[in-house]
Amino acid sequence: MPALTDADVPAWTRRLGLPGLYDVHVHFMPANIMDRVWAYFDDAGPLVGRPWPITYRHSDEERVQRLRGLGVRRFSALPYAHKPGVAGYLNDWAAGFAEAVPEALRCATFFPEPDAAAYVTKAIDDGVELFKVHWQVGGFDPRDPLLDGVWGVLEDTGTPVVVHAGSGPVKRAFTGPGPIGEVLAAHPRLPAIIAHMGAPEYVEFLNLADRSERVRLDTTMAFTDFFEVDAPFPRELRPRLLELQDRILLGSDFPNIPYPYAHQLEALERLELGQEWLRAVCWDNPMALLG
Ligand SMILES: [Zn+2]
Repeated sequence: MPALTDADVPAWTRRLGLPGLYDVHVHFMPANIMDRVWAYFDDAGPLVGRPWPITYRHSDEERVQRLRGLGVRRFSALPYAHKPGVAGYLNDWAAGFAEAVPEALRCATFFPEPDAAAYVTKAIDDGVELFKVHWQVGGFDPRDPLLDGVWGVLEDTGTPVVVHAGSGPVKRAFTGPGPIGEVLAAHPRLPAIIAHMGAPEYVEFLNLADRSERVRLDTTMAFTDFFEVDAPFPRELRPRLLELQDRILLGSDFPNIPYPYAHQLEALERLELGQEWLRAVCWDNPMALLG
């Protein structure tokens, strides 16, 4: 199979018979914060673990144009708070971004802090469609009692939340299937989206999805050459991806990826799970969940 380039992506999508791509794991955030994220990747900081050149280091406007050029018809704009007191600022910014960019989902984040349940409730009332939390970076415990009300309102309203719960690229205190498993035991209807297929704990997170029917997994960076080096997806688990076909969602981590966008799609295609599976993952499933 010839390597896909970004220029090939629209034709690849058309061959599948899809109107475009629906990517649930894209980051946009205020420029000063994105600059700091990029500086962290440049230094291969301790949470990154190895060189990680950013492929799409452009202005917001240019990155939106790139996504349009790739035929990404709908995408998230996931901010995430790394400390208390910043979620409000990030969420205000994300609201403005979604207002200005019609393809962008309205997204928000939260952190364990006393007003979290209140601002999450307000955000949902204001139309937020998708949340993101990142306790690998934030270093917090998802079982923190300050988050109880947050998980409850997300569960009651059926609002999806992308969670970076896996221990990749670097393990931290509350990553892995245990802590989020306890959250899901307490909130069994929580529509959690496990980022990166739960890498590197693939089998544990597939098991979690088997137990919790509202849990989804996003493909973000999984199956790519870059991830396969440190966290290879076990070939024998591929049938599980077919069994969970309806609950796997396209995610890319654009723009913070060390390879072209097209490589994520190539990595999905070479799983050889068929066109039906690709159509479900790249469009139908995110569309069914998020509209
Ligand atoms: Zn991400």
